[in-house]
Amino acid sequence: MGEIINGKEIAAKIKEKVKADVESLKSKGIIPKLVAVSVGENPASAVYIQQQKKNCEKIGIMYELKQLSENTDEQKLISFIEQLNSDEEITGIILQLPLPSGIDVRNVQSKISPLKDVEGVNPANMGWIVYGRPFLAPCTALAVKEIIDSTGVDLYGKEVVMVGHSDIVGKPVALLLVDKFATTCICHIGTSDAGMLETHVRRADILIVAVGKANLIPGEWIKEGAIVIDVGINRVGDKIVGDVEFEKAKEKASLITPVPGGVGPVTTAILLRNTVEAAKRLKGE
Ligand code: NAP
Repeated sequence: MGEIINGKEIAAKIKEKVKADVESLKSKGIIPKLVAVSVGENPASAVYIQQQKKNCEKIGIMYELKQLSENTDEQKLISFIEQLNSDEEITGIILQLPLPSGIDVRNVQSKISPLKDVEGVNPANMGWIVYGRPFLAPCTALAVKEIIDSTGVDLYGKEVVMVGHSDIVGKPVALLLVDKFATTCICHIGTSDAGMLETHVRRADILIVAVGKANLIPGEWIKEGAIVIDVGINRVGDKIVGDVEFEKAKEKASLITPVPGGVGPVTTAILLRNTVEAAKRLKGE
């Protein structure tokens, strides 16, 4: 029977350190300030923004929401972001998604100053991961790495299987782990369509799943003693579940993250950490 990884505990430790860093910055007259840019109204973003604000304020980070109207076009949005880039008081920028259709998200993200890009979505920050020198990497990818590190497992030579190849989760996670000499395989829809997903999952010493399909991975596929990190968030009836069939997977895994309470809280804590790291670097600390 596998042990359940407590994401909230891992997050609490990260936040404790971030809070100490914020206090140290404040003693030098530096206040980290995070600005979130949202275009148009979106109920899902509104909840997320409220949470961000609360989390930042608890830790001493200033938080401000810049709400732009639904009909803001790409050029106006880029000009707005450029103003934030040059504002010395602002140390971090988040671009809330989704953006209205017609705006090229990746193009706008590429205009956020890499030094203020606390979500790690600017191509320059993605590039630093390729170089093995991650600085502001995507929060969820760093959260997965943090959780794996918290288990104490030595990644050297381990079989890692990453299911999902999104730009902000699957690809950066794979790069972060391959750098630690894990033998890393990325699976995606092509793997499933070729009927090969089960074969790959069954040999994973460390399995990470970030797809967004409830119960995509049956528990019986899990290798005995594997570490399972479930990034997926799916609403099934009135419940939130991950991508892995949790109860059965728990029987075979040595360690497994729950959903909710696993990757989510750690991702939130990493956003705060990235915000403080960005402020430190910007202010030469
Ligand atoms: P995404 O951009 O939609 O990527 C999903 C990935 O899964 C794609 O690479 C897709 O491949 C692949 N995929 C789809 N069906 C598949 C199948 N049957 N077999 C294998 N691979 C398949 O999603 P994301 O942003 O990475 O997020 C993934 C999940 O994680 C979502 O549930 C999201 O809500 C959750 N999430 C959680 C957190 C957190 O903090 N806990 C943070 C971010 C995301 P193709 O592109 O080729 O179709």
